[in-house]
Amino acid sequence: GSMLVSPDATDADLAAETSVRPKRLEEFIAQHRVREQLQVLLQGAVRRGSPPDHILLSGPPGLGKTTLAMIVAAELGTGLRMTSGPAIERSGDLAAILTGLGPGDVLFIDEIHRIAKPAEELLYSAMEDFRVDVIVGKGPGATAIPLDVEPFTLVGATTRAGLLTGPMRDRFGFVAHLDFYEPDALRHILHRSARILGVDVSDDGAVEIAGRSRGTPRIANRLLRRVRDYAEVRGDGRVTLDAAQAALKVYDVDELGLDRLDRAVLRALVTSFGGGPVGLSTLAVAVGEQPDTVEEVCEPFLVRAGLLARTPRGRMATPAAWRHLGLQPPDSAFG
Ligand code: ATP
Repeated sequence: GSMLVSPDATDADLAAETSVRPKRLEEFIAQHRVREQLQVLLQGAVRRGSPPDHILLSGPPGLGKTTLAMIVAAELGTGLRMTSGPAIERSGDLAAILTGLGPGDVLFIDEIHRIAKPAEELLYSAMEDFRVDVIVGKGPGATAIPLDVEPFTLVGATTRAGLLTGPMRDRFGFVAHLDFYEPDALRHILHRSARILGVDVSDDGAVEIAGRSRGTPRIANRLLRRVRDYAEVRGDGRVTLDAAQAALKVYDVDELGLDRLDRAVLRALVTSFGGGPVGLSTLAVAVGEQPDTVEEVCEPFLVRAGLLARTPRGRMATPAAWRHLGLQPPDSAFG
């Protein structure tokens, strides 16, 4: 099904991920540059005894932004408060969260690009001066009550760094972009997860799952659980190459890790629009999805896999996309 390789977390993921989630920086696999930069930032802060700069993490879903936020709090030995942009509807909601923070706490705001405007402005002053003005009343009688906020570290996560306003971006002293994981890094993650879950996985089994995980640890861990189920029911419980191939066939995950929606997008591009270029919203309508879902969930990986190109005139299928669907690319595709 299409949920299987969606990078977004399901409730089942959230429950299952708790045990395999890396708790410290040294357990966080790959992303070496980000890891090393964070290590320096956090050690400096611990040495000085003051909170580090605010941290912005960007990148597609499922690559470890939430995990890193938890690690930041663990490495600093502080409390962690988690919320998300869409959950903060009124600035009062945010003021309550901010004034409730303990000294040095980490505040994690997922999808920070979706925070409402008035709350965003309140957040600026909190980030900069550790104070907020809470407006009481309306019209000419309204008064601003300044409230102190304990020094804290904001960890913001976004799938769309480009959607952040300039003033917001400028207030983060540390900005890191997480990129899709290489298959070998995913293989390591799978072996680590298997060890924690007590699953017997062969190396070729791990390689097979890694190659179909869209560069995304969350998907790798989810596919591991599905292949384990299959191996327990149909085999001897060992996650081998054969078990992985058979299970992923049953679950409709192809060799590139594309799911039904990814394939629908490519197929629409190729069969309905002659390979493109076609606008995002037209394409989304053709597959019956929200433009945001197509843009944030499908496209990053299709682009990364060299199957789809974003051009100024719209989305285009690459020759590799035609071939992946078993079709002959037209001569005109990409000149
Ligand atoms: P979202 O944006 O949807 O919240 P996310 O980027 O915050 O996604 P996480 O929830 O942090 O993603 O990661 C998903 C799961 O992938 C984690 O529970 C963890 O098990 C695993 N994971 C992520 N990154 C790593 C890593 N570098 N090493 C090992 N496991 C990882």
